[in-house]
Amino acid sequence: MNQQICTTHSAEETELLGERIGEKLRGGEVIELKSDLGGGKTTFTRGLARGFGSNDTVASPSFTISYVYSRPDKKELHHFDFYRLSDGGVVASELAEVENDPSVVVVVEWGDIVHDILPSTRVILQIRSLEEDSREITIRHDSSSAYLFEDIGVDA
Ligand code: ADP
Ligand code: MG
Repeated sequence: MNQQICTTHSAEETELLGERIGEKLRGGEVIELKSDLGGGKTTFTRGLARGFGSNDTVASPSFTISYVYSRPDKKELHHFDFYRLSDGGVVASELAEVENDPSVVVVVEWGDIVHDILPSTRVILQIRSLEEDSREITIRHDSSSAYLFEDIGVDA
C-alpha cells in the first residue's frame, strides 16, 4: 500500500484534487471515500466526475443510494452512498456487478456495510476535518493505481 497525504483549505481545493485524479481514471477503478458527515466526500466526487469528463450534476445520493454519471464515450462513474443503511440489499448486488466492469469507475461513500464485497485493490481516501475549511486527505492505494496520483500536487 502506498500512502499520500495532502491538506486542502477550501471545498474548491478538494474539488480540484478530485478533478486532477478524475482526469486520470481509465475505468475499472474502485474508490472508497471515508470521513465523518460533511467531511467532503461528495465534494471530492464532484471534482472527480468533472475530471472524468461527465457534465452530469453530482449530488449527495444519500436517499437514492446510487447515481450514475456518464460521459460521451459511454464510460460511467457510479456513485454509491450507504449512509444509514443497515443492509446493502439489492444495491450491494448492483455494486458487486459494476465493480468488475472495466468501463465503470465506482465511488463508494459509507462503505463499511459493503466492506466484504469491496476489492482489496481499491483506492481508499480518508478525509479528516481540521479547522472549519481545512481537510487532511490521506490516500492509500495499491501500486497498480499509482497512475492516478502522479502530478496531482500531493506529497508522496
Ligand atoms: P460528505 O459527502 O462527506 O458528507 P459533503 O461534500 O457533502 O460531505 O460536504 C462537505 C461540506 O464541507 C460542504 O459544505 C463543503 O462546502 C464544506 N467544506 C469546507 N471546506 C472543505 C474542504 N476543504 N473540502 C471539502 N469540503 C469542504
Ligand atoms: Mg456525501
